[in-house]
Amino acid sequence: MIRQYELVERVKSYDPGVDEEALNRAYVYTVKAHGTQRRASGDPYFSHPVEVAGILSSMKLDSASIITGLLHDTVEDTEATIEEIEELFGQDIARLVDGVTKLSRIELQSDQSKQAENFRKLVLAMSEDIRVLLVKLADRLHNMRTLQHLKDADKRKRIARETLDIYAPLAERIGIHEWKDELEDLAFGEINPEIRQSILARLDFLRDKSSNLVQQTVDELKRTLANSGIDAWVSGREKRPYSIWLKMQHKAVEFEQLSDIVAFRIVVKTVEDCYRALGVIHNAYRVVPGRFKDYVSNAKSNGYRSLHTAVFGPQGQRVEVQIRNTEMHEVAEFGVAAHWRYKAGDIKTDGRQYAWLRELLDILEHAAGPEEFLEHTKLEMFQDQVFCFSPKGEVFALPRGATPVDFAYAVHSAIGDSCVGAKINGRLVPLRTQLANGDQVEIVTSKAQTPNPTWERFVVTGRARARIRRYVRTQQRQQYLSLGREILDKAFRQAGEQMTEKALDGVLKAFKCPSVEELYVQVGEGHVTGAAVVNAVFPGRKEKETAAKPVRAPRRGAKSADKKTSLSVPVRGLIPGMAVHYAGCCHPLPGDRIVGIVTTGKGVSIHTIDCETLEQYNEQPERWIDVGWEEDAVDMPRVGRIDVVIANEPGSLGNLTTAIGKSEGNIHNLKITNRSQDFFEILVDIEVRDVKHLTNIIAALRATPSINSVERARG
Ligand code: MN
Repeated sequence: MIRQYELVERVKSYDPGVDEEALNRAYVYTVKAHGTQRRASGDPYFSHPVEVAGILSSMKLDSASIITGLLHDTVEDTEATIEEIEELFGQDIARLVDGVTKLSRIELQSDQSKQAENFRKLVLAMSEDIRVLLVKLADRLHNMRTLQHLKDADKRKRIARETLDIYAPLAERIGIHEWKDELEDLAFGEINPEIRQSILARLDFLRDKSSNLVQQTVDELKRTLANSGIDAWVSGREKRPYSIWLKMQHKAVEFEQLSDIVAFRIVVKTVEDCYRALGVIHNAYRVVPGRFKDYVSNAKSNGYRSLHTAVFGPQGQRVEVQIRNTEMHEVAEFGVAAHWRYKAGDIKTDGRQYAWLRELLDILEHAAGPEEFLEHTKLEMFQDQVFCFSPKGEVFALPRGATPVDFAYAVHSAIGDSCVGAKINGRLVPLRTQLANGDQVEIVTSKAQTPNPTWERFVVTGRARARIRRYVRTQQRQQYLSLGREILDKAFRQAGEQMTEKALDGVLKAFKCPSVEELYVQVGEGHVTGAAVVNAVFPGRKEKETAAKPVRAPRRGAKSADKKTSLSVPVRGLIPGMAVHYAGCCHPLPGDRIVGIVTTGKGVSIHTIDCETLEQYNEQPERWIDVGWEEDAVDMPRVGRIDVVIANEPGSLGNLTTAIGKSEGNIHNLKITNRSQDFFEILVDIEVRDVKHLTNIIAALRATPSINSVERARG
């Protein structure tokens, strides 16, 4: 634990004008307030706030942040009150402590909606003062560092999950990469210890194999730059296990050599030097196409600036290079905290100066519920960005994969609602086209247009999705309402009776509906049958009905059973009554992009969009139908097929099955299709939840020793 005088000395070293006395007072106050309380580790409780203050001081933050770090748990966990803190330490500190306290109060509630509520409060609090977030992140970092002392395994997992979903992305958003990396790695170790272990083992192996490759590359890059008169500081940094794991999942890449997992950094003095250095590197080595990104002229929304490129380096292997100047480097490492380093005194702490925070607040106001908000924002924070221009030259930063519809909603929700087409760089394109960096986007609108539900399948921004969904919800309700009214009307007529709203009014209670409209919706959605309503309005009619017309009752029964089976196929866009089956060639899984093919005598077969079998239907567009997964499709396990090549050596099959089991995959079938002296090729069918689950398993297998390659089977 950091000592009182050490903490004061440390703050003094970067902020000579610090109120030393206040800092000492806060230290003594927290030690006294927490008294004999202990942490799960057995340490005295006050060691926690003191460590949090230590973490904040290592970021060279202002003394108000450090003092808040010291006091952050006193109001929640001790006799101390916010009034007392205001009296002793002033309004500013009291406000910060209050912000952090409010968050801690709801932190320990576990279900999704509480977690979302938590996040909502966090966004509100940090939009008032960004230092609330800095203290909260330091608090979380120390709690993660000491997580292993908690006995309750479920609680550990939940905290780790929340850290990955919310706190690490927030640390990234404000650009504090050091905290983000450490938070992610600690959480990863809790959630997926085996995979993390196998990645670490693989890293050790690669490091041994290519002993000083990194140093050699650094030296060579330095020499190349010096020869062209550029004075640069060059270093090689190994990526953390978690970011390697993410890359393996997203891009389905393996890591074979050390250069796959080391990023090289070139730090120069000026902006011009950045571009000169880039020129020298591109001139000296062959460029890996498609990897160049200019975040210097288009900074990321967290302020990050750098040139990124990849070349075939000195030893012929692929090398990733980031080029930046000293100032950009500070921001890249310390994010918003970099502002405190040189400009003490004139710091802006109002969070609303950050565009992304304003965006979060905006989504917050328009989401239907906290879960929806969480879903939108969580997804968005993980994605990389593209920068596009309006015809007037305004820049919009959008997540990678964004479409003209996302762009339209980013400009204004009214433009999104009414967009009918788009021009990219002057050419008319389909609305689902993915935008690329630097595209100029012009949206064509029409007053007659309304949001199209199918847009939801391709938009990627939370803002667009929230608007479309809201529209679809009201739309669907209207449809179910009129469908329900029709069904009821028919049911009454078939029973030889007249349907009146008044009669329905009398039975609302029986169906727990607040209004007749709601009853229509319930009937339309199939939760209540027409017959049930008729029977409720005219009790005693049931027997007469069945006796008089014995054919009708079973038919109606059959009809509703029919509806049930068609519901159990979790695919939308199908033709009612037509048989459905999943193609055996590509084994489509929930989450895959899919397409239906009408086959004579067989109904509809569902294929993945990249299935090789589809080629033979290219000339028959009339047989293709546009289908998608229902949202609840994930609940039913399905079988996915992978093609694995393993080494012919003792234990390799065991490694394979163990890794699949650890990732919660259930092996359904296993077939050796090819064997040679060195390798076995095996087809494995695995029961999985969805495509993401299968991708996880594939990535886990790729990190497993003696497994040579893993691919999803395609036709
Ligand atoms: Mn705390």
